[in-house]
Amino acid sequence: MPVQSHDEWTIIRAMTDLTPEAATPVSWDALDLAKYRDEEEAAAALLAARPLTPDQRGIVKNEALLLVRRARELGRRGLVQSFLAEFSLSTQEGLALMGLAEALLRTPDTESRDRLIVEKIGAADWSAHLGQSGNLFVNASIWGLMLTGKWVEADLSEDGARLVGRVAARLGEPAVRAAITAAIRIMSEEFVLGRTIGQALARAAREDLLCSFDMLGEGARTVADAERYELAYSGAIRAVGAANSPGVGPENAHGISVKLSALSPRYEATQVLRVWRELYPRLLRLAQLAAAADMNLTLDAEETDRLVLSLKIMDRLAHEPSLGAWRGLGLAVQAYQKRAPQVIADLERLARRSGRRLMVRLVKGAYWDSEIKRAQMAGRPDYPVYTTKPATDLSYLVSARALVAAHPYLYAQFATHNAYSLAAAREMAKAAGVNVEFQRLHGMGEALYRAADLGSLRLRTYAPVGLHEDLMPYLVRRLLENGANTSFVHSLLDKAVPAERVVDDPFRSVELAGGRHPRIPRPRDLYGAWRNSGGIDLSIVSERDRLTAAFRDLPSPVPVPEASPDQIDAAFAQARKAQPGWDRAGGAARAQILNAMAQRLEENGPRLMAMLVREAGKTWPDAISELREAADFCRYYAMLAEKNFQGAALLNGPTGETNALEMHGRGVFACISPWNFPLSIFTGQIAAALAAGNAVLAKPAEQTPAIAAEAVRLFHRAGLAPELLHLLPGRGESVGATLIAHPLLNGVAFTGGTETAQAINRRLAARGGAILPLIAETGGLNAMFVDTTAQREQLIDDVMLSAFGSAGQRCSALRLLFLPRETAEATIESLKGAMDAAVLGDPADFATDVGPVIDQPAKTALEKHLAWLGREAKICHRMTAATPMPLLFAPSLAEISLNQIPDREVFGPILHVIRYPQEGLEQAAAALATKGYGLTLGIHSRLENFARRIRALVPAGNIYVNRSIIGAVVGVQPFGGEGLSGTGPKAGGPLALSRYAVERAISVNIAAQGGDPALFNL
Ligand SMILES: Cc1cc2nc3c(=O)[nH]c(=O)nc-3n(C[C@H](O)[C@H](O)[C@H](O)COP(=O)(O)OP(=O)(O)OC[C@H]3O[C@@H](n4cnc5c(N)ncnc54)[C@H](O)[C@@H]3O)c2cc1C
Repeated sequence: MPVQSHDEWTIIRAMTDLTPEAATPVSWDALDLAKYRDEEEAAAALLAARPLTPDQRGIVKNEALLLVRRARELGRRGLVQSFLAEFSLSTQEGLALMGLAEALLRTPDTESRDRLIVEKIGAADWSAHLGQSGNLFVNASIWGLMLTGKWVEADLSEDGARLVGRVAARLGEPAVRAAITAAIRIMSEEFVLGRTIGQALARAAREDLLCSFDMLGEGARTVADAERYELAYSGAIRAVGAANSPGVGPENAHGISVKLSALSPRYEATQVLRVWRELYPRLLRLAQLAAAADMNLTLDAEETDRLVLSLKIMDRLAHEPSLGAWRGLGLAVQAYQKRAPQVIADLERLARRSGRRLMVRLVKGAYWDSEIKRAQMAGRPDYPVYTTKPATDLSYLVSARALVAAHPYLYAQFATHNAYSLAAAREMAKAAGVNVEFQRLHGMGEALYRAADLGSLRLRTYAPVGLHEDLMPYLVRRLLENGANTSFVHSLLDKAVPAERVVDDPFRSVELAGGRHPRIPRPRDLYGAWRNSGGIDLSIVSERDRLTAAFRDLPSPVPVPEASPDQIDAAFAQARKAQPGWDRAGGAARAQILNAMAQRLEENGPRLMAMLVREAGKTWPDAISELREAADFCRYYAMLAEKNFQGAALLNGPTGETNALEMHGRGVFACISPWNFPLSIFTGQIAAALAAGNAVLAKPAEQTPAIAAEAVRLFHRAGLAPELLHLLPGRGESVGATLIAHPLLNGVAFTGGTETAQAINRRLAARGGAILPLIAETGGLNAMFVDTTAQREQLIDDVMLSAFGSAGQRCSALRLLFLPRETAEATIESLKGAMDAAVLGDPADFATDVGPVIDQPAKTALEKHLAWLGREAKICHRMTAATPMPLLFAPSLAEISLNQIPDREVFGPILHVIRYPQEGLEQAAAALATKGYGLTLGIHSRLENFARRIRALVPAGNIYVNRSIIGAVVGVQPFGGEGLSGTGPKAGGPLALSRYAVERAISVNIAAQGGDPALFNL
């Protein structure tokens, strides 16, 4: 497989008319080095930067106090703030309101809307809030919520539909629904200036606002989405340009804010070609329009993984000759990122180099919680953002000073609703004699800025424009910001909080508390009892280069010969001899070896991942996950070995005797693993058997012996005696069958097809002698049930990943998607668009989402099933390959009826869709349940009651709600099925080792020695 060129600048140069000097950028990739900077060190650097002198600190503090007091005199809380002041997000009621706001307006059918209202309102206690709010509307609403909640509370155990009917009947009419929908709509509209740009411009004129308009919408999932958003942006730029007074310049005219994620379904660092071929031209067209209108166009800041890519895009835009002498190009910079001050410095250099003044909006950042989660899930070395609010505030000040100092190359725009940040930025600008701009979000910060009286400094309002369907992600961010206890706006107008506490000097707080939040452990320390595996960040170019080099340097594969019957005999004999010593060594000694293995896996990560790409056709993200899972298995089972296999556990009993339970290995285990996880399942089975005190004979899949051989080599290098682990490659019919029949065998761990597991089971049963345990993980007929409250973008992402990720070759993969009739058509259309935006091709290319299937027989089986679907059902859509390769099978979407649910797992990227009417949900679920599988089950709904119903109807070992159904994490989502899908115990779960072990209870009568001294000595 050829490795594609990842040199973005070669691509850019080939596609651009920039001069060679302009097209040779400073290396933005250097910024990646600071992405995961140690937090204590980063916080210390912030303190050392001293953005304010001690005198200035005093001035700023006083000024900020004054602002708070004045704002409290002047200010009235807006409706949303009043609501969220009353129902903070730390309360159940606040969460219920946010959940309702997030889902209600986009739910199309009244029945589900009613269910949402019943569930969310009924789950909270509104009476405690009665009369607490100064806002009349809020108090009236609490009455309404409470009354509804009371009725609902009494009946929550009932079936949802009947319950809704009764509640509505008692209120006379669906008046509740209408009232609550209207209230949520009013709340949403507080944050939106207008539904159309025309309305928004008219309102801005009426209220004398200087605006940066934001056309609601982000996260395009399809090219059609991106085209729609481009149209909205270009229409807005034209309208704003026409409304602006000519000749005033971008500082004094309305501008526009653009989210790059809206302009492409693949705004990702690894999608190099698409970013430059599709996203960039779209953005350039918008920038040309903005330049012609001489207005500000600012790129909003999004997730940290996109920072460097956005800077590369800025770099190229700044050098575009077609933009003439335009001074309106801008970028938002997030202060919560550890590299914020460095970004400002680099932007200043870019402005100097390109000769184009840039506008820079300094924000703190709106995605903090999701950044923390992503870093934890991905096993990052640290967080890309600060974990304490004061560090973010201090970073804002350090960045602000750099921004002011970069005048006139950078035009400073300070976006904040925080009195201290505002006062500090104003003080810095005053000291430097620089004219700067402040910005606030529409619906927030009015009182503060009225109190601030900016004089000659400009105030710009960030003004979202659009319809409800595009509002949700924005609305949720605003609700989080307004409702979070740490947020400044949350406490600004709350007179119960003393002004001194509202205005916190971040220097002092950082000095006192140091850099790191005590309750947010580093991602690698997340689990406490075992270490989280480390991931590789593919958004970083040097990391991609490291993997490319490992792939290039792989030696040519050498054939791995099949183990002979003599070799199998010898392996059994050696293993049998060595096992008792290994068992006696105890859990702690075995844990040491397993932890050492985890370490070896990570040290050899790039090479192992490259092998996974080459031998198993894994994409890089899949290879990373697989390596991490292998390391997690080793560490988790090491932890269990130490906990449960280190000597005897004493049990309670009568005096005069001791009772204890010991766990021991069974003897020699055969571990038979599949090709779809040739490293993680292979390693996981072995690690479990070893941890419990067994010796292991491992038979890898025929298709992937090289990676297995490498894993065994690493086990031995980690200190495991070779006698305890033998690699026995070969076919199931020969090596597998010999292992199962061998007289020295004591147990089998198997992962693979249901039929093979049944065959092994029969052979084991036919043996004479001891009854041997079989731990089998087999396939599933995995489904996802969706209702009309599901969030579309999230659903599309999760379906794409679950059905087509790893080319559908996971036992957990999604095979059946149950869609409600009301939204099925729209969902299918979105899925088709997302399939067109995904890349099918060479797995060694970082841009590839779906690689080949494992071999020709697998491809032939899929083609056969697809032909059947073509004849008997309806094939809705297929992906097309970016680069032709022999084993690529185009992921396919097919619609079937309920009676066409396959009886067996079809192992590959074919997703079957079934539409169901709401009243037919039970029937649909029953049709699936009767097939007898029980592995993974997905549910996409904002209704807990819907999730409960599905869980009761469909058996499954692993249930995933509002997320993908693949990627179980060791120790977090123990994995394994029931029914036809496996025997248990679950891999990566607390009971995983039990079937690999025997238990011995030892009871000793101490009284037999003459008495129980302990009793006498009480
Ligand atoms: C005009 C305007 C434009 C904006 N554009 C963008 C944009 O393009 N991209 C974007 O991401 N955001 C953007 N924002 C949103 C902005 O990030 C938030 O409004 C901002 O974080 C609130 O900061 P504050 O100073 O008003 O409030 P404060 O209450 O002082 O700060 C709140 C912020 O602190 C951070 N924080 C909270 N807890 C912690 C913690 N434990 N550790 C570390 N940090 C923490 C969070 O980022 C949170 O948003 C914009 C805001 C405005 C006003």
